[in-house]
Amino acid sequence: MIGTDRLHLLGLALALASSTLAFAQDKPPTPDEALKKLKAGNARFAAEKSTVKDLGDKRRIELAQGQRPFAVVLTCSDSRVVPEFMFDAGLGELFPLRVAGNVSGQSIFASIEYATAELKAPLVVVIGHSKCGAVDTALKGKDLPSENLKKLIGLVHLGEKLPAEKDEALNAAIRNNVRYHAKQLTEQSTIIKDFVGAGRIRIATGVYSIKTGLVDWLD
Ligand SMILES: [Zn+2]
Repeated sequence: MIGTDRLHLLGLALALASSTLAFAQDKPPTPDEALKKLKAGNARFAAEKSTVKDLGDKRRIELAQGQRPFAVVLTCSDSRVVPEFMFDAGLGELFPLRVAGNVSGQSIFASIEYATAELKAPLVVVIGHSKCGAVDTALKGKDLPSENLKKLIGLVHLGEKLPAEKDEALNAAIRNNVRYHAKQLTEQSTIIKDFVGAGRIRIATGVYSIKTGLVDWLD
């Protein structure tokens, strides 16, 4: 005869084993599959066809056992640029890094190393956006009220030979800035560089339109 305590323990062990199994069976998508998934999510969002997200207890408890985001999204902190909305993603699906001007830096490289090495995220996207205030500020070269702001805006990379027309210059600078910081990821991190070289992860770039909701992919 098995005692009640032992039965209880057995049940617990089985429940744990099955939940761990369910998590382990969640095979991460390939980098290309992940990008396809992001693109499909963005198309749904722009077409006002976003799906209803499971934000309930059950989903949170499930995710408390571990996260397996399929994409790292480095983008701007702008209130109109929300990764989970723009890619129609739910809890636990994205690993967003948001900073004004979507600039890179040590904490960004380290966060991406963690997300790709530990959490096995197969995709990293760097997303700029139309009418970015940080890029616009860098372009105008205005005097800034603090050293912190000067440092941040100094990280925005405008690029060379910008068009003379104001809006065109801003759009070109936004694209240049995205490309520059995407390039920094492999130049400043050996882990990211090795993962890209081995095909374990992929880096993609795009510019999000705050009007249409669509991401214009740059590569
Ligand atoms: Zn911005």
